[in-house]
Amino acid sequence: MVRLHQAICNGLFYNNLELDVICKSAILTSIMYVLENVPLSGYSTMRVGGNARYLAEISTDLEVPKAVDWAEEHQVPVLMVGDGSNIIWRDEGFEGLVLVNKIKRFDISSFDDDTAYVTIGAGENWDEVVERTVEQGLSGIEALSLIPGTAGATPVQNVGAYGQEISSVLMTLQAYDLHERKLVTLQASECEFSYRTSRFKTTDRDRFLITTLSMILSKRPPIPPFYHSVEYYLKENGITDITAKNIRKAVIAIRQAKLPDPKHISNTGSFFKNPIISRSRLPQLTADYPDIAYWEVDEYNVKLSAAWLIEAAGFKGMHDKETGMATWPSQPLVFINESAQSTSQVLAFRDKVAAAVNEKFQVELEQEPELLP
Ligand SMILES: Cc1cc2nc3c(=O)[nH]c(=O)nc-3n(C[C@H](O)[C@H](O)[C@H](O)COP(=O)(O)OP(=O)(O)OC[C@H]3O[C@@H](n4cnc5c(N)ncnc54)[C@H](O)[C@@H]3O)c2cc1C
Repeated sequence: MVRLHQAICNGLFYNNLELDVICKSAILTSIMYVLENVPLSGYSTMRVGGNARYLAEISTDLEVPKAVDWAEEHQVPVLMVGDGSNIIWRDEGFEGLVLVNKIKRFDISSFDDDTAYVTIGAGENWDEVVERTVEQGLSGIEALSLIPGTAGATPVQNVGAYGQEISSVLMTLQAYDLHERKLVTLQASECEFSYRTSRFKTTDRDRFLITTLSMILSKRPPIPPFYHSVEYYLKENGITDITAKNIRKAVIAIRQAKLPDPKHISNTGSFFKNPIISRSRLPQLTADYPDIAYWEVDEYNVKLSAAWLIEAAGFKGMHDKETGMATWPSQPLVFINESAQSTSQVLAFRDKVAAAVNEKFQVELEQEPELLP
């Protein structure tokens, strides 16, 4: 059963308080509740996983060091999350303190005639951030519309869609550095961004608790050419007025037509990254499979469509009774939890798909959502 373990109030710890007493204190001062034994299935849009030993919501950056001190006192590790739309929790759960980022902030300031700075709290809903910037006539993140989750998670896997990535607009971010034990500012150039990854997911995993992002956006309309499906939508719908608002509209329509809404259908979006392979393998693959889908990366590499590989391996519209998992009919790269009760079932389905793709194409698929802890 979930129970209130402790309330942290102005750096003091209160035990065994009646909830109404805590609520009264909360009006007077900033307060943070630490819950105990919390099912993590509620903190992943795949809706499976074990329990967190402790969990607290964080509403200001000043609460972060307090929570870290609390965890140290209880000798448990700390992990920060947003909305759980890119997390698969292990069945074993997490023997530590999960911090759910709810830090809110949204400031726009003009930089020059062409650009504006936008500073946002890590706990802001990402799509609302995109909507608000587009409403202000700013461009740079409109193609990232409707990506679920919080703003603070976007640098972690360098979120991207329809030709844009957060790394192209991010200036700086603020984070609590668990090594240095202080709030730090990192330049985008220090984040080691590349395709769906960053230092936050690799070398410095679990080191930085991101609190604020600062982006630089353009006051000018977006510049074509756009991603092929966006171009197609604009043409089909006779849209000639190229604004960030209209690109957002196109992206929302395209995404809604092919992706399930994680609020209603349990999924974590694309389950694998599109694999990057050596260009030297392409002639044989295209000879064997003339319609194989791929994109150019550079003179040495090409990126294959993981969705195409999965479909060609026989998993389109698959409903796997054994694991309770399925592939989404219009996008086989998205795995749906239809009736799986545990993460081991999700991973068994992942392994089935990856093994079939590997056997047919000798291509390794890499999981995109993080398996935590
Ligand atoms: C239907 C669907 C479509 C999607 N489409 C896309 C897409 O087009 N492109 C794309 O890139 N992704 C996509 N995703 C994946 C996901 O939405 C993004 O990765 C998103 O940024 C995750 O946000 P979140 O708040 O849910 O993060 P979470 O899932 O809560 O966390 C993800 C990771 O980031 C870490 N983290 C989260 N917040 C913080 C923080 N403040 N400080 C430090 N670490 C943090 C967590 O520890 C975890 O490791 C999609 C997911 C779904 C379900």
